Amino acid sequence: MFILKDKIFTLLLMTCFVLTGSLFNPEHSQANSGEVNVYSYRQPFLVKPLFDKFTDQTGIKVNVIFAQKGLLEKIKLEGQRSPADVLLTVDITRLLEASQTIAQEVNSDILIRYIPPAFRGQQNRWFGLTHRARVAFVSNRLPKVTQLSYAELADPKWQGKICTRSGQHPYNLAMFAAYLTKHGEAATQEWLGSLKKNLARKPSGNDRAQVRAVYAGECDIAIGNTYYMGAMVENDKNPEQKEWAQSVHMVFPDNHTTGTHVNLSGMVMARYAPNKKNAQKLMEFLVSQAAQKIYANLNYEYPVRADTLPSPLVQSWGALKPDTTHAADIAANRTKASRLVDIVGYDR
Ligand code: FE
Repeated sequence: MFILKDKIFTLLLMTCFVLTGSLFNPEHSQANSGEVNVYSYRQPFLVKPLFDKFTDQTGIKVNVIFAQKGLLEKIKLEGQRSPADVLLTVDITRLLEASQTIAQEVNSDILIRYIPPAFRGQQNRWFGLTHRARVAFVSNRLPKVTQLSYAELADPKWQGKICTRSGQHPYNLAMFAAYLTKHGEAATQEWLGSLKKNLARKPSGNDRAQVRAVYAGECDIAIGNTYYMGAMVENDKNPEQKEWAQSVHMVFPDNHTTGTHVNLSGMVMARYAPNKKNAQKLMEFLVSQAAQKIYANLNYEYPVRADTLPSPLVQSWGALKPDTTHAADIAANRTKASRLVDIVGYDR
């Protein structure tokens, strides 16, 4: 039954790629000195401007397949015949999984020089490109909060005042796993149990929905990723989101001590990359200051390079001190974190 289900899923997947993969010409699956093939979990608006600039500078054409799901599985299925050179993705866990299954080592002085050690794999099998912090959106109805720690979110003074999405969502799991890496399992269970008691309601909806709940007076603090502030404030299609955003201020937990938890977007080079040289050129281009600026600014993120500033809007939120707990350690604790979410009944 499960095997059949898997087969159906795979079939659906392949059909789906035929439809979305129209940018890919079968000829490109062979090595081609003037091209590079990218599989991207990141959306077209984010990466197209970068690839256009890369092509302008190098003459190398970038062929892209976009999808929200299944790209990693697709590369696995294609095996040695895979045309994929580079995979672009978000989330520490997915980067780690890709690095362990379909990636190859890239020995590049440029990547190592510009990407801080916490934000790349120790065996040079994955590399971070941008990051986003997971922070508190605090109601402007309260006196301005300037400092906060993740530990304090569990303080009884916030009882019934906090809104978050599901504890099992990858964004929260990474944040909980980072806490676990620092404080250990027992302390994290206690912390999560107390945080659960502080929730104003059963977790539901996405990050923006939590800010809307603060706006509506259902809670005082929402937990969310920094870029949603930009996405709401500059949202001309949904002006109501500007009002939600204007009802809160962001506080970066632990920014004054060990640093605020960040999650990554990043890249790997595929093990059977047919255009290896061009793939490395593209990866190195993506850490150039110019590319870092474009990539980070389009989604209100932070460049992974410490010497490159984010956009003026993002800078206006204050300086971010990223927690440098290694991404691989956080990913390794995710399963434990997920179990604790169940144990404390976080989503009930
Ligand atoms: Fe998101």
